Amino acid sequence: KLRPAEARLLIVGLGATGFSAAQFLQKTPIKFAVIDSRRNPPLIDTLREQMPDVPVFLGGFDQSAFEVATHMLISPGVSLNETAINKAMLAGVTVLSDIDLFACATDKPIIAITGSNGKSTVTTMLGDMANAAGVKTAIGGNLGTPALELLQQHADLYVLELSSFQLERTTALNAKAATVLNLSPDHLDRHEGMVGYAKEKQRIFRGNGAMILNADDEQVLTMRDEQRKCITFSTQHPADFYLQCGETDYLQFGEQTLMRADELRLEGTHNIANALAAIALGYAVGLDIKAMCNALKRFKGLPHRMQKVAESVAGVVWVNDSKATNIGACIAALQGYQRKVILIAGGDGKGADMRELAPAVQAKTKTVILMGKDAELIAQALADCVPIFFAANMKEAVKIAQNQAKTGDVVLLSPACASLDQYKSYLDRGNKFVEAVMEQVPC
Ligand code: ADP
Repeated sequence: KLRPAEARLLIVGLGATGFSAAQFLQKTPIKFAVIDSRRNPPLIDTLREQMPDVPVFLGGFDQSAFEVATHMLISPGVSLNETAINKAMLAGVTVLSDIDLFACATDKPIIAITGSNGKSTVTTMLGDMANAAGVKTAIGGNLGTPALELLQQHADLYVLELSSFQLERTTALNAKAATVLNLSPDHLDRHEGMVGYAKEKQRIFRGNGAMILNADDEQVLTMRDEQRKCITFSTQHPADFYLQCGETDYLQFGEQTLMRADELRLEGTHNIANALAAIALGYAVGLDIKAMCNALKRFKGLPHRMQKVAESVAGVVWVNDSKATNIGACIAALQGYQRKVILIAGGDGKGADMRELAPAVQAKTKTVILMGKDAELIAQALADCVPIFFAANMKEAVKIAQNQAKTGDVVLLSPACASLDQYKSYLDRGNKFVEAVMEQVPC
């Protein structure tokens, strides 16, 4: 579709993805320019230094830049609903993504991972497992290194984490194995409701590779294509890869026992689902199962995801799950506990229906402390479930939690919301939580 001699490609958005695309295109005969609505996007100086001849448009989406383009490579942070982009699409300019260029540039197998939650965990876990199984593997995409930059690693297998925004503008991907880990409401402010969101995620299954399906998620199961190789995983009942519960819980591959569930170092049933998904993906591309399981036993998890940060002298455990930026992640976190939790939540709810939190909050929490933009909205959704406190900032939230907590309790930061209304990122929010705990809680 893209004939290098005739194509004029416009990179829309100069973040890490846009910059990686410019670096890649510079080594090809394809003519390209860069546009960003910001006056001073983060990588502009580096771009000008390394590629002084590349035309750059800043401070708005100048229609004339779109008019000469044959293709637009739109960064995931830029909405397809921008007027200039819409007009260009109507005029026949082709939309593509960095993932399209990546897929065309390599003939090595690609494993593609999406879902509402667990993408980064499964991508990182599987990267470790594949390397341990003796296959030189590079991981990235939505997580860490942009896909096109990974090519420099000359790997034999690529594991890509893909967001719904990346998938929305990708058509050329044909992953050897792909999964939608789960679906729960997220980014409904940027997609056309749950149906639109699920449709974008399903695009990961384009092509003819193996489909790895979560048998516990009805919406994911409807994506099954009987013509294709399908591998299922489940934590609730027998599937191709599943959790067998009994006196001791085991991870199973049909009749074959793979490992004990308690050999995993991660908390929560959702992480068992993640482990099963990772093994299934690796199996689909021919990785050695035993080597993968050995690596799985060593995997310690990622920071800001169900990370135990302290145990106080009073016997209270403090857990940082700041990466829980939607309700699905918060519910999964709560469901993992057998004891009552003091939950710190709130932020930008991104249009989700917070009433979905109510059953898990009622069953698992004794107090909820709310902060951020949608605190009031969440409080209304949880009315009558549990006592609610409001906090202006993280220090105050930790102070309230400290006053409420008794020996044996867990204080969990699992906000069910994005952080950008009050913090630079979920990392910043998690770090502020850890700082406040270290300052105020005797450990
Ligand atoms: P993503 O990259 O999809 O955001 P992460 O692995 O970074 O996923 O985890 C994000 C949040 O989701 C964390 O709060 C984590 O505890 C939670 N989480 C991880 N895996 C799952 C899962 N399979 N189901 C529900 N929540 C999950």
